[in-house]
Amino acid sequence: MKTILLNPGPVTLSDGVRSALLGPDLCHREIEFADLQDGLRRKLLAVYGLDPAAWAAVLLTGSGTAAVEAMLTSLVPQGGRILIAENGVYGERMSRMAETYGMDCTRITGRWDSAIDLEAIAAALACEKYSHVAVVHHETTTGRLNDLAPLAALCRRHEARLLVDGVSSFGAEDLDFGALGLDACAATANKCLHGVPGTAFVVVRRGALTATACARSVYLDLREYLQRQDAHGTPFTQSVQAFYALDAALDEFFAAGGRVARQRLFRARMGAVRNVLQDLGVTPLLPTADCSCVLHAFELPAELSYAELHDRLKAGGFIIYAGQGALSERVFRISAMGAISNDDLARLCATLRDALKP
Ligand SMILES: *Cc1c(COP(=O)(O)O)cnc(C)c1O
Repeated sequence: MKTILLNPGPVTLSDGVRSALLGPDLCHREIEFADLQDGLRRKLLAVYGLDPAAWAAVLLTGSGTAAVEAMLTSLVPQGGRILIAENGVYGERMSRMAETYGMDCTRITGRWDSAIDLEAIAAALACEKYSHVAVVHHETTTGRLNDLAPLAALCRRHEARLLVDGVSSFGAEDLDFGALGLDACAATANKCLHGVPGTAFVVVRRGALTATACARSVYLDLREYLQRQDAHGTPFTQSVQAFYALDAALDEFFAAGGRVARQRLFRARMGAVRNVLQDLGVTPLLPTADCSCVLHAFELPAELSYAELHDRLKAGGFIIYAGQGALSERVFRISAMGAISNDDLARLCATLRDALKP
């Protein structure tokens, strides 16, 4: 029996993406690699219809966290000041990065089950000058899709540049780079785009990178990557096989109708899961209107531990995901990402019914 991953990445691969991993051996200094990389960078911008003259996709070898860390360390200059809006694990991780690199950083810590605290952010921005604001788009901790528009308006008013962790939203959620005035968005191959782990990327406004001064990191210096990738090269060895897989995944993504189609697909899957769970008396952590299309969190029934639910579903061929931190005893999470057929989805619904029946 095939196991279906319902954790928020890595995802269940399509046969096409899996066979792409068996592509030819390739030296990252050969023209074939340059062509592969150029094509990927073009296709990643095409996901949101971005103009390559104004925007660049910078490819890295690492997980999504590497892309987020590259974004923060490359875009916030020495002497810059960053405000980080937190309402979950990934917002808190960005603050840990800023603090680790000794950045001048203010954390606006919000409750994990609440929207980001716009009032506190507005007050902080009105009070002191910040060069940058960072936020997680889809906070995977709870499944909440943070509303970027009001935050972007505050940034515009106070002339702060907005940096987004879009690791678990890029490719599925609406993200109007221009209207939001984004400077950068960090993302990864192995979530909504359905590639394999190993490749991550930052979509950056070209003007934002040329403005920064000296790098804080050697491996994560986006400016170096951008210059070398624009010249069809790479500063370091890239994960060639993960590039092959992402290329195949992006071809499948566009063939299936692109971003809007993927959003519709994920919404339909999450809706089906949510309906079944509602029938079983399982309460969602957040109202649908606050949730991403990518992942929802649900309250564990009082008499059932996460471990027990996990094991019942695993025995049925499905891997779900635990809550994190204070939510670890309280919720379980189900993601809609990956190559999941309608039969798989129907089987999931039946397995959930069996696992959760009173
Ligand atoms: C998955 C994820 C990350 C990165 O996690 P990795 O394990 O490094 O891939 C970062 N931010 C968000 C919001 C995520 O969902």
